[in-house]
Amino acid sequence: MTGSIPRLVDNFGRQHHYLRISVTDRCNLRCIYCMPEEGMEFEPSDKILTYEEIAEVVRVVAGMGISKIRLTGGEPLVRKELEKLVAMIASIPGIEDISLTTNGIFLAPRAERLKEAGLTRVNISMDSLQADRFKMITRGGDVRKVLDSIDACVKVGLSPIKLNVVLMKGLNDDEIADFIALTQERDIHVRFIEYMPIGHSDTQWKNLYLPLNRVMEVCAEQQWEYASVTTIQGNGPSENYRLNGAIGSFGLIHPVSEHFCQTCNRLRLTADGYIKPCLAWTEQFQVRSVVGNDEAMRQLFLDALGTKPENHEMSKFLQGDEEISHTPTARRMSQIGG
Ligand code: SAM
Ligand code: SF4
Repeated sequence: MTGSIPRLVDNFGRQHHYLRISVTDRCNLRCIYCMPEEGMEFEPSDKILTYEEIAEVVRVVAGMGISKIRLTGGEPLVRKELEKLVAMIASIPGIEDISLTTNGIFLAPRAERLKEAGLTRVNISMDSLQADRFKMITRGGDVRKVLDSIDACVKVGLSPIKLNVVLMKGLNDDEIADFIALTQERDIHVRFIEYMPIGHSDTQWKNLYLPLNRVMEVCAEQQWEYASVTTIQGNGPSENYRLNGAIGSFGLIHPVSEHFCQTCNRLRLTADGYIKPCLAWTEQFQVRSVVGNDEAMRQLFLDALGTKPENHEMSKFLQGDEEISHTPTARRMSQIGG
């Protein structure tokens, strides 16, 4: 009966292959662009999907064409025995790639076990190479632990590692050259990401938002020669380059200044069990009640896809445009998974 199982195609003809799963809304850090310093309310543990429920969802959507899974959060490594979930997902037919997005603080001692469980790749978020500044942006993080994690991942073969760097005007944009210079000697892919106006007041965002053409200006100032690259594994929406002679590479993810919605192939599952068809909008569909009923779960995913907008319209936030066609999500990045 496999032939009759529907594929995850939305109203704009986009086939979905990629599911990002948030395994927790909790985090050991409080990055300034993601969470408030105090007062975050977290879901009680009985509202969070169990590993068995998550694996059931993955089994069903793998039959509909999902082949790539990313585990995220909150901080996924604060959830106990994440290795167990990785192994459960790795055993599901059709799943070809399991990656992890993490702040890297707890990763070094677990990198080997995660790799053995079936993890393919990691993205590590690190917005500054400077200890004091890293501590300020993350409200308490220790950059040395993240650097140790990068080394541990290289050692166990969880590579090439991607480093996610959210660029903020006047906060870390003076480190663009330092981050790119890292790629000269190491097999690291640095991904500069535009700060997105997700789930919080736009005053801070408008002050700190920096369009990523600044990265190319820095390359010109440094008189660096570079070429486009198209061979970055799992490169998603990023536009990628390599300095001449460098081992690693760097990329730009600019959801605000140049959206890439026309090629969006991703769905999200929140820790409390909602399918989110679009990162930026409010629509969400509770999956827990259909776990155990494959037909109903497939229909729920198709219903969710039916509401997916053509474009997230984040650039309109910048212009103060009133005419946004949907309601923006009130959830924070840590509650969606980024
Ligand atoms: N805690 C993990 C981490 O930080 O990598 C995973 C969850 S975090 C929400 C996923 C990604 O979203 C991180 O790379 C983070 O930098 C990014 N992120 C969070 N808030 C953001 C925002 N407002 N704009 C752009 N990226 C954001
Ligand atoms: Fe935590 Fe990641 Fe959000 Fe930072 S970006 S507060 S590490 S969930």
